[in-house]
Amino acid sequence: MRRSVFIKTFGCQMNAVDSARMLSLMSSADYLAAPTLEEADLVLLNTCSIREKADQKIYSDLGTLRRWKLRRPGRLVGVGGCLAQQDGEELRKRAPHVDIVFGTHNIANLPEMVRRAERRLPTLALGMDEDMTHWDVVPHLPAGAVSAMVAIMQGCDNFCAYCVVPLVRGREVSRRAGDILSEIRSLAGRGVMEVVLLGQNVNSYGKKEGEIPFPELLRRISDIGRIRRIRFITSHPRDLDDRTIRLFGEMDTLCPHVHLPLQSGSDRVLEAMGRGYTRGEYLARIDALRRLRPGIAFSSDFIVGFPGESENDFRETLSVMEEVRFDASFSFRFSSRPGTRAAEMKEKIDPQEASVRLRRLQELQAMHTRIRLAAMVGREVAVLVEGSSARDPGMRCGRTACNKTVNFTPGNTGGAIRSILVTGAGTHSLVGEERSSDA
Ligand code: SAM
Ligand code: SF4
Repeated sequence: MRRSVFIKTFGCQMNAVDSARMLSLMSSADYLAAPTLEEADLVLLNTCSIREKADQKIYSDLGTLRRWKLRRPGRLVGVGGCLAQQDGEELRKRAPHVDIVFGTHNIANLPEMVRRAERRLPTLALGMDEDMTHWDVVPHLPAGAVSAMVAIMQGCDNFCAYCVVPLVRGREVSRRAGDILSEIRSLAGRGVMEVVLLGQNVNSYGKKEGEIPFPELLRRISDIGRIRRIRFITSHPRDLDDRTIRLFGEMDTLCPHVHLPLQSGSDRVLEAMGRGYTRGEYLARIDALRRLRPGIAFSSDFIVGFPGESENDFRETLSVMEEVRFDASFSFRFSSRPGTRAAEMKEKIDPQEASVRLRRLQELQAMHTRIRLAAMVGREVAVLVEGSSARDPGMRCGRTACNKTVNFTPGNTGGAIRSILVTGAGTHSLVGEERSSDA
């Protein structure tokens, strides 16, 4: 009987793509995808270590998996990704029932590691040499997918004071443009109409390798017929250059939504974080993009309670939010990460005070999100349909070019991109009705 694998993914989109690669690899090693954990013979946790909370959740899952393993002989547990890279040996000590621990650069050998585990030989694979062979593995694409994520680079050279990414994902390495383009051509051939390009700092794509610059990569992707929408995450505000900004006025395929993590609105805190831009420079980029593409949507990331952040610094963050009125944002309480510069900083903020600031920021964001969504009611929008709506199986769900989720009552027209009249707005999404066949 064929064995089956269940993959649980934590953290960012980069991990989601790595998990899709793991599934491809395990399918070629004759493993089926198990619909639930209970049906699986092998569980792979693809982990995150960006904040302490993520670590705790994974260790608690590992406790559950110890009991899961005991319920049926022959079951195997593998742990990959950033926490595996960070804790390595320590993870094996804390959870001796784990058969395979593999780091962020050790995905390509997964089938071999699983075969060893089947013979009761545990593996600890944490090497971080620039072995990028896993990039040759085509990520699994679910049947009928219209949107796909494509990793264009890995790692990061920025070493922001709070961030563990350069330590667990290694130095920045870009993929060859030719490989990226052929992957996207193949995705387009399988019905994909939207690509989301992934990297920790997409604007520095190819600089070290002497590859084509990021704006040129965008142009070449846009020339691939059938790709109607291009998105990218994440842009670094320091490196988002004028050439890329100008493309928003020139390329219709470039979606009018930019995720531009600000982290803090205070120049003093930005400096301590080592972000390499000021509040004024950030706002100038937002203005330039708005001039070139009226109606463009913005989202951001924020960290509150960074060491030394005063009430005044925090208010500066709120004032940038008032100025920009982001469509959405992800906000986090500062979490001290081993090996980072911020972990050594003395002026830690009281966690309760940081939680209060986080709530204030999130309340302001919720208000801005509601205002932005409410402004869409009565408009007709082009929605790329992704599947059935989670709230009602009779409804369909998709996203606008500005990245707003729309649940809508379908007409009888068909087509992947539909014209939808927005009839209502919720706290995070829109509702609507289909109008005509295409947009
Ligand atoms: N490369 C992206 C950038 O430069 O903004 C983001 C990478 S990180 C995976 C996603 C977000 O996690 C960051 O933008 C930041 O807001 C948050 N983050 C990273 N380290 C953190 C920490 N130590 N504590 C709290 N939030 C953190
Ligand atoms: Fe982390 Fe900064 Fe790199 Fe983003 S740019 S991954 S926040 S070090």
